[in-house]
Amino acid sequence: MPVSEFDLIRQFFSRATAARADVLLGIGDDCALLQPPSGRVLAVSMDTLVEGRHFLPGSDPVALGHKALAVNLSDLAAMGAEPAWATLALTLPGADTVWLAGFMDGFAALAAEYAVQLVGGDTTRGPLCITVQVHGFVDPDKALRRSGGRAGDRLFLSGQIGDASLALAMLQRGAVFPPEFDSLRRRLDRPEPRIALGRLLRGRAHAAIDVSDGLVADLGHVCAASGLGAVIELGRLPVSAAVGEQCVRGNWQYALAGGDDYELVFSVEPAQVDALLGVCADASQPIQEIGRLVDDSGIALVYPDGRVSKETPFGFDHFRT
Ligand code: ADP
Ligand code: MG
Repeated sequence: MPVSEFDLIRQFFSRATAARADVLLGIGDDCALLQPPSGRVLAVSMDTLVEGRHFLPGSDPVALGHKALAVNLSDLAAMGAEPAWATLALTLPGADTVWLAGFMDGFAALAAEYAVQLVGGDTTRGPLCITVQVHGFVDPDKALRRSGGRAGDRLFLSGQIGDASLALAMLQRGAVFPPEFDSLRRRLDRPEPRIALGRLLRGRAHAAIDVSDGLVADLGHVCAASGLGAVIELGRLPVSAAVGEQCVRGNWQYALAGGDDYELVFSVEPAQVDALLGVCADASQPIQEIGRLVDDSGIALVYPDGRVSKETPFGFDHFRT
């Protein structure tokens, strides 16, 4: 029987990632056989990247391999879960082995960093589309749910926000790129899942979410699930110089509604704040207090000049919650 293109492709997947002891049977059979640890629950999440919608046509395959896994690991981080296994559904226009080798390099490098094993998937032909599912473990009573927020909780954000969407805006505008473009673009192409921070937040934060669709939209999900409102102090938002410059000009959309940040926003009881700041500093996990949860609805924005508004300063559809 002739060897099909997709048999060759499958070889890329089999040698892709490290071997875990809890994988009884990996790629190659009808199913993978996996052994979850007793007493913990599976945390499962899936994300799809479609060419032309989630990434620009012709994007670097190594970056795509990284990002396809990273955005999924970000969901595990936001739940406080330990990453373990992944599956990969790839729809490819053709059997481009150069593209595939690059994609699997990016995917496997990040998988190795978090001891994730690729245990199966599916390969089909069609317009380029990448779906990854990840599986992690978490103690059921320690999972960081969106619904856990309480009025009076302080709100924190990891890292910096707005860089990825500013990079995308620059890419779409084309023309001449400013010197800071490369570092912004790295944030768009190579998001780092905040797994280590998620680990620290287990048992310490009340609620958490990862910022994939913009801070206000995603914080809105926490508010809705917790039955609360929030106050964001815009002057405290952690932003790069480039995004800060936009904010000063009144262009708050990158910081507030940009998307593709993959930082964590989470709520912490006031009495826990000092301890949390301590462990995060020890672990070199930058976090910044940005506001609080309140017994109200909606999100109030406190501008640096003291003005308070529940109006959003821009009108993207995905911004509405
Ligand atoms: P079946 O026809 O039984 O579904 P396939 O031919 O689709 O099997 O896949 C054979 C094996 O290769 C399975 O173990 C499957 O999980 C794995 N596989 C196929 N595509 C991928 C992929 N994109 N990533 C990882 N594993 C894959
Ligand atoms: Mg199949």
